[in-house]
Amino acid sequence: MLDCAIVGGGPAGLTAGLYATRGGLKEVVMYEKGMPGGQITQSSEIENYPGVFREGLTGMELMEPWPAQCMHFGLKHEMKEVKQVRKVGDHFEVDLGNETVEAKTVIVCTGSTPRRAGFKGEDEYFGKGVSTCATCDGFFYKGKEVAVLGGGDTALEEALYLANICSKVYVIHRRDSFRAAPPTVERAMKNEKIEFILNASIEEAFGDAMGLQGVKIVFNDGREPMELHVPGLFVFVGNDVNNQVLRQDDGSWLCDLNEQGEVIVDLNMHSSVPGLYAAGDLRIQAPKQVVCAASDGAIAGMQALHYIQEHEL
Ligand code: FAD
Repeated sequence: MLDCAIVGGGPAGLTAGLYATRGGLKEVVMYEKGMPGGQITQSSEIENYPGVFREGLTGMELMEPWPAQCMHFGLKHEMKEVKQVRKVGDHFEVDLGNETVEAKTVIVCTGSTPRRAGFKGEDEYFGKGVSTCATCDGFFYKGKEVAVLGGGDTALEEALYLANICSKVYVIHRRDSFRAAPPTVERAMKNEKIEFILNASIEEAFGDAMGLQGVKIVFNDGREPMELHVPGLFVFVGNDVNNQVLRQDDGSWLCDLNEQGEVIVDLNMHSSVPGLYAAGDLRIQAPKQVVCAASDGAIAGMQALHYIQEHEL
């Protein structure tokens, strides 16, 4: 039986493995369906991971040394997709489809995936002007005009964040009312740098080999389409949490989730089920940053170790 099974090999999963093995656990396997590294490997530039700063540093370059360090202390990696995690008696079963592995503890680090809006050019310019993270990419547009697509809490909070950095922020929203909390709407409305373009959606993003140059906006109230010339567009139309491994055969969830499907954890990354931890973008209130995912992983790795020692498993 494994001491600990880690599901997902992004910053959270890798760091969980590092701390669990370096702390003394012997049988720790990280199941990652692709190459280790996680979603940050899609990023063309990362500037906010402390201690590793170089102009033009890509996410791939940031993550490249992580697996060797994390595996140096005994973490094993298997390139396999986990289908389901179940609790059976005092241990867990990790279902890999054609085999089932038993584990004393499980750390789920499967991350989340920001939704795409689906307009023409969105994929083409993703990472070249189109972004889903203001904290990650807002600084690249310091003093410039940008646009935000969406009308929920995240969209307006990120618009306010961008207004501190950029010269102007256009918020493009398909309705003339907002899903965001009223105080957030009020703050955004009062901000002189934020201009709302309502009853509107993006038909197309355009640009050239250097990146995004602007978006074509269409209106649902009969107004003529318009072009907005901006080098940065931030899309906030929802987020899919990769929580499917926690779904049980009867449709219930292995542990408590919030309305958005994020795993409810305490400050020690404990889920509602003893011995089961969630770390990184998958958990409630995740800041969705590499440094935070790594921190969560470290905490969860240490907690798995304590759990096994405490229960003399
Ligand atoms: P992830 O990195 O999402 O890793 C989850 C891993 O789990 C994936 O590798 C996935 O393949 C694997 N997985 C999922 N389901 C299964 C399964 N069933 N079985 C096995 N494996 C599974 N953050 C910053 O701090 N600064 C930035 O500048 C920055 N820029 C970004 C730019 C882009 C384009 C993107 C997409 C993200 C950016 N982020 C940035 C956010 C950062 O990448 C995430 O917050 C961080 O990677 C989350 O780490 P994680 O380990 O929780 O999840």
